[in-house]
Amino acid sequence: AKSDGRNTIRFFDPYIQKVMEEKSSMLQQLRDAIDSKQFLLYYQPQVDQNAHVIGVEALIRLKKATGELIPPGQFIPLCEESGLIVPLGQWVLREAMMQVKRWEKDAQKSQWRVSINVSTKQFEREDFVHVVESVLNETAIEPSLIRLELTESLLIGDSAKALVKIQALKALGVSLSLDDFGTGYSSLQYLKHLNVDELKIDQSFIRDFLTDRSDALIVETIISIGKNFNMEVIAEGVESEEQFERLKAMGCHYFQGYFFGKPTPPENLYM
Ligand code: C2E
Ligand code: CA
Ligand code: CA
Ligand code: CA
Repeated sequence: AKSDGRNTIRFFDPYIQKVMEEKSSMLQQLRDAIDSKQFLLYYQPQVDQNAHVIGVEALIRLKKATGELIPPGQFIPLCEESGLIVPLGQWVLREAMMQVKRWEKDAQKSQWRVSINVSTKQFEREDFVHVVESVLNETAIEPSLIRLELTESLLIGDSAKALVKIQALKALGVSLSLDDFGTGYSSLQYLKHLNVDELKIDQSFIRDFLTDRSDALIVETIISIGKNFNMEVIAEGVESEEQFERLKAMGCHYFQGYFFGKPTPPENLYM
């Protein structure tokens, strides 16, 4: 980059220039997508040891004008980097809670718990607890049907503040899950104070644990941490009956993965 006068920097490297242009055009597309309601939530079943559905996880998708569905891996990182995750995350909270409301009169689905992914960027906002509270009030749903999936990265910043927020969320009556557990900043010291209800074993440990001894040890360890800290444990990425049976034998409480069902639009969820 060359400095052009005092305040402007121009990029003369055509590659960098192209990357930056693509990024800003994608960012504009994402902003437009929020305005034109092009986001939607898919839901993936979570089951208990009897393979009985007890809830779902809400997973966001972007539907392009062409009808093409874009998975979150392709836009969540840019949303986090740009701060767009805050309004988008707010939309997700509201849409998922409205879905709980729609299911209220459904004999089978009215007791389903809905797990909602919360980005650390979103969690760190001063008003996050207030936002959750107002959507709960607005939709008038049963707070215990909501489970917020947080990640360990929220402990990297001001962890004392994070712990206070977690207490405030619990006081609203929602439950909390620690997503991607074991992949990040796991400090047992913090876990002791972290009043979460559930640990979610990341699918990277589930993929090969039937044949990989160290993955199996990690899975066993997470299940025993859950037991000792009195937290429920859910495994994600369960793709086979054999994985399900083995996890059950290890004492895992809940399961999620293609073996039980892929993420689906809510109207296609027949269980
Ligand atoms: P995650 O929270 O770890 O979600 C699990 C991912 O694994 C989902 O990918 C899901 O579709 C996929 N999956 C489920 N079962 C299986 C299986 O049996 N095998 C395999 N190979 N994959 C399985 P998806 O929907 O593409 O979401 C990717 C990530 O995007 C999520 O990872 C989450 O971190 C993020 N994300 C999704 N929705 C939201 C959202 O509303 N807000 C935020 N902040 N992040 C979201
Ligand atoms: Ca998740
Ligand atoms: Ca994961
Ligand atoms: Ca995650």
